[in-house]
Amino acid sequence: MLFTKTRREAPSDEQSKNAVLLIRAGYIHKEIAGVYSYLPLGLRVLNNIIGIIREEMNTLGGQEVFLTTLQDPNKWKTSGRWDDDVIDIWFKTKLKNGGPLGLANTHEEAITSLMSEHIASYKDLPRYVYQFQNKFRNETRAKSGIMRTREFIMKDLYSFSADKAQHEEFYERATQAYERIFSRVDIGERTYRTFASGGSFSKYSHEFQTLCDAGEDTIFFDKEKKLAINKEVYNDEDVYKTAGVHKENLNEARAAEVGNIFNLGTKFSEVLGLHYTNERGEQVPVYMGSYGIGPARLMGVIAEIFSDDKGLVWPEAIAPFDVHLVSLAGNNERIREYADLLYEEMVTKGISVLYDDRNVRAGEKFTDSDLLGIPRRIIIGKDAVDTEMIEIVNRATGETMRITREAVLALARDDKKNNL
Ligand code: ATP
Ligand code: MG
Repeated sequence: MLFTKTRREAPSDEQSKNAVLLIRAGYIHKEIAGVYSYLPLGLRVLNNIIGIIREEMNTLGGQEVFLTTLQDPNKWKTSGRWDDDVIDIWFKTKLKNGGPLGLANTHEEAITSLMSEHIASYKDLPRYVYQFQNKFRNETRAKSGIMRTREFIMKDLYSFSADKAQHEEFYERATQAYERIFSRVDIGERTYRTFASGGSFSKYSHEFQTLCDAGEDTIFFDKEKKLAINKEVYNDEDVYKTAGVHKENLNEARAAEVGNIFNLGTKFSEVLGLHYTNERGEQVPVYMGSYGIGPARLMGVIAEIFSDDKGLVWPEAIAPFDVHLVSLAGNNERIREYADLLYEEMVTKGISVLYDDRNVRAGEKFTDSDLLGIPRRIIIGKDAVDTEMIEIVNRATGETMRITREAVLALARDDKKNNL
């Protein structure tokens, strides 16, 4: 039985819709401002998102690692990024007997020096390495719930290529992988590849911006071309040529940056000593790129977009469970046994099901079920036991149907084509 409880009211200091809903539904817990813990339901959603991203990163040929969050100041001094005036969101700490340590806000320094032990020749390239790891950022604003937190999981992939051409080939494939990820979590249509500032080697970086009122960014998007310009480069006339869009075809909207990809060039490899021997026997720096996605920000954006006045409405691919089995047995033994047995059979069939067997009012159960946002609700009351026809409600559409017990047991993940 779930230990988490739903709540009628959100904490009074919480302004963002995603945090209000996720806290009320018992998905997350607010530790302090901008710092949230994940509870069983929330962790299931987050892990489903991570699972989709991991699949796509593996398809790209990425190899998963897990770097440390404690960071060696020397590497950051070498890259020129240790000072607080260079990176203003640092969290730093100290060793007991002396020197300072950093808490990772990104991992370019660590991965670049690590890879120098493994890349020596052009035969070792290209390589793609990624991880899901915590980042710490002392963000000044923390008003967007889990969309901007001071401690968060990032998927960061780093590419190591021999030259610009090899880099660009991968960069394009990575872009397509990102597009697949956003489609798989149902925000593909409203997510735009966006030209933004922040490129160190190329003039622009690419952001993936999802149209969302709660987003902190403003973009100008071309719906047909599926491209956008971030407001920060809107007045830069070059960007229209580079992006291949016309100012007059663009619409302004609020958006949230769910991913960001950078051409790092040889910026880090040169200073941190990541060189390889090319075919002519010369020592040259490795050409790098970095590719980030914030799974929790993605979850927050999805909660903002897919929700209504009753609560959350999860897309199937990331819902914590496929089916919410709601028993209205009360003190009726017959109904309770029927529901218990059905639950066990569903689990045996491999259906992902959350069982509400609490002895509380039906109204309270339905309110909670709406708030939790699991795609399908199955209701077991007197009717189901008497007629063997079971009520199933689609959370997104509100559509109600009565189906047989066999149809319920066919609701396994692979059976979704029956569209119930
Ligand atoms: P922003 O512009 O929103 O501050 P950023 O450009 O600093 O983000 P990156 O360093 O490129 O972000 O990080 C990669 C991804 O990590 C972002 O696209 C976003 O999805 C996620 N992310 C960044 N900062 C946060 C945060 N504070 N909380 C949650 N997710 C974040
Ligand atoms: Mg950004």
